[in-house]
Amino acid sequence: VAIRTFKAFVGIDVGGTFTKMAAVTEAGRVRLEEKLPSQVEAGPASFVDRVSGVVERWIEQGLRPLGAGLGLAGDVDSRRGELRFTPNLGGWDGFPFKRALERRLKTRVVVDNDANAAVWGGYVAELKRKPRDVVGITLGTGVGGGLVLGGRLHRGATGSAGEIGHTKVAPGGELCHCGGRGCLEAYAGSYGILRLAKRLLEKDGSRGRRLLEISGGADKLEPAHLSKAADAGDPIAQEVWVETGRKLAVGLENLILVLNPDVVLILGGVSRAGRWLLDPIEAHLAAQPFRTAFSRARVKMADNPNAGCVGAALLAKEA
Ligand SMILES: [Zn+2]
Repeated sequence: VAIRTFKAFVGIDVGGTFTKMAAVTEAGRVRLEEKLPSQVEAGPASFVDRVSGVVERWIEQGLRPLGAGLGLAGDVDSRRGELRFTPNLGGWDGFPFKRALERRLKTRVVVDNDANAAVWGGYVAELKRKPRDVVGITLGTGVGGGLVLGGRLHRGATGSAGEIGHTKVAPGGELCHCGGRGCLEAYAGSYGILRLAKRLLEKDGSRGRRLLEISGGADKLEPAHLSKAADAGDPIAQEVWVETGRKLAVGLENLILVLNPDVVLILGGVSRAGRWLLDPIEAHLAAQPFRTAFSRARVKMADNPNAGCVGAALLAKEA
């Protein structure tokens, strides 16, 4: 039986728990996808072996790889294709991902920060590359960011540009996973959001009765429960989103003044909170007296769970 072959770029998005992979055609269409556990503790060589196994299976199904992109959570040296520093992929720093994957897959590999990949995916797939200047922010356990300036991903002097999650929104404030205090991530990352919710529940649990019903207890609380409970009228859940939105708005206010973007694109699971998050952001931005940049910047939410791996594939195409 003759197999119909097709050309595509392979995108690999590595999170602390799961890795998502996709084969994406030049036109941006996802032909194959796969989700597998990252198994961080098994080490990077084992990881490279398992993702390569998936690609080799796809090749048997007709894939002809045009290149591959790998998005890693942490500070990435994209020239060398290595992780310099990573709070979430312990023990993976210093491993030569680019070299190991190129040797095994015999195709060109680009390695970048996972948020850069996701924002590029959102820029191409959601915004169709129309606006020139875009600030992208990814909301998950951590808060990542990416900058598209003049239609191109801006990496900065060391490839570390766009670390929006670690810009400060409250000097001396809450503790962040990076070790700093008052970072945006310490408020808008899922652990910061849950920290606030639990604190409010401890103070007056009767106000969060609906939230506790939905989550099945304070210890089982997840951001999705907060969205549901806010819709159901729970005052604590609503307060948490308003507070989270306000902190996000402060971070975005600074970025809008510095970069004057056409669009602020919010990506990631927490963006499912929708209006609860968007309303306090828009209210804050509308109240800024220095108008021009704020009148221009449109805030858009995109809940595309594949933005990371599609973006990694599209970065390989760009290279
Ligand atoms: Zn931080």
